[in-house]
Amino acid sequence: MEKHKNFIGGEWVAPTGDQYTEIRNPADTNDIVGYAPRSAAADVDQAIAAAQAAYGAWAGRPAPERGRILYKVANIIEGQIDAWAAELTREEGKTRTEARMEVVRAVEVFRYFAGEAWRVGGDVLPADTTNTLLYSKRVPLGAVAIITPWNFPLSIPVWKMAPALVMGNTVVLKPASATPLMALRLMGALHEAGVPAGVVNCVTGSGAVIGEQLATDPRIKAVSFTGSYAVGHALYQKTALRLTRTHLEMGGKNPVIVAADADLDKAVNIVVRGGYGLTGQACTATSRVIVDRSIVDEFSRRLIAAAQKIVVGPGLVDGVQMGPAVSAAQRDIDNDFVALAAEQGAQVSVGGNEVAAQGYFVRPTVVTGVTAQMRIAQEEVFGPVIGILQAADMNEALALSNDIAYGLSATIVTNDLRQAIRFADQAEAGMLKVNQPTAGVSIQAPFGGFKNSGSGMFREMGKGAVEFFSQEKAIYIDGN
Ligand code: NAP
Repeated sequence: MEKHKNFIGGEWVAPTGDQYTEIRNPADTNDIVGYAPRSAAADVDQAIAAAQAAYGAWAGRPAPERGRILYKVANIIEGQIDAWAAELTREEGKTRTEARMEVVRAVEVFRYFAGEAWRVGGDVLPADTTNTLLYSKRVPLGAVAIITPWNFPLSIPVWKMAPALVMGNTVVLKPASATPLMALRLMGALHEAGVPAGVVNCVTGSGAVIGEQLATDPRIKAVSFTGSYAVGHALYQKTALRLTRTHLEMGGKNPVIVAADADLDKAVNIVVRGGYGLTGQACTATSRVIVDRSIVDEFSRRLIAAAQKIVVGPGLVDGVQMGPAVSAAQRDIDNDFVALAAEQGAQVSVGGNEVAAQGYFVRPTVVTGVTAQMRIAQEEVFGPVIGILQAADMNEALALSNDIAYGLSATIVTNDLRQAIRFADQAEAGMLKVNQPTAGVSIQAPFGGFKNSGSGMFREMGKGAVEFFSQEKAIYIDGN
């Protein structure tokens, strides 16, 4: 089984100390997917030095030239979608269909930001004096650090890296320890497309050991982090000391409000897709459903019936609709939350088929009778567990929806335009959907959370990503 290497300065480099982490398929723990470097401080140091050395020449290239290289990366990945999707499923566990969507998303993100190469620049502004040219110009930041979670092991590194690169920054990526191999595969595609040595670097290994070093080294000019609130919050304290530009995208506890007038089958479909898609392991996954009291029993009955039909199993097997949890630890967290909810008085209904396979399977679960004070109503589970709360009217539904430390995504299911507009005005989250699942993001739209879901100053995707990875100069040229 292959021992992978870090990608530093355009070369594959074995980790100092020659230590590796075994990566096993979460759907079949007998299947070893590969061995990823367990990097040490010296490896990170080398990667940062390579990124710093490559910066001047990369930033000096015309943006369209950088964009052309990103187009090539997109084409290389597009030529291998099925192989990449199969590897992603083996490493992370999501179904082949979900993995394919993630790979296609990576291709689209590279193309989107490659296109930005022809648009980013600045503005010509009216000058206060005659014969004066006043304009603004966006310039890159330098070497930047990108730290990513395991649930989108390809697309999150890509949606951070593509805008960073097109703006002229150089990158050191640290992927999650549970899923580092897709990031290394991505390095291969960038290299093949002609990204110059040192412009992208990837070191794998424990965040607790190398993450902080990467984020706080004075040569790193910005940090883009996606992961849990606990890690993001602690990281922010450390990057603040040097005023390092920092972007945090963190957890969610995303609600769906089902209004009294909602089409119930449509509501169930929206909740199933948002809550059980990706095994509930999405920051935007539905985890709370707030249902009008008049329909809560019928809605719950239909949701439980739908959960029971979901086919759970290894993501590469045809017909499987939901894969395993990523790890034994995540499976245990899911089960512990459900057990605690039952202890606190909620009712638990477990769906899906019995899974005999050798993996970290959790069955799609509906918890009814949830009240706002229960931990399952307040804390992120990050698994296929949906809690149902009831509300007397829309005032209470909105209050419950907002009564939470997170604010990433929220949905209302209704046919009443007034309720939809009220929800859009009053719901406290960065992404609001009417009659669509809480999960699912458009590349061209600003993406990010309110409250503890995000640091809030910048957005990912769209023009927010370009803004994060650049800064503006104002230039005054007096022609008199
Ligand atoms: P995590 O435990 O916070 O880890 C995220 C990344 O931070 C990993 O690469 C991790 O490395 C690294 N890390 C750990 N300790 C660190 C430290 N002290 N300094 C610097 N880096 C450190 O999160 P996760 O379990 O991978 O991902 C699940 C979480 O991500 C959920 O909360 C989910 O909601 C969130 N998420 C948010 C979004 C969004 O856009 N808002 C998207 C996806 C996921 P190791 O893996 O080596 O520990």
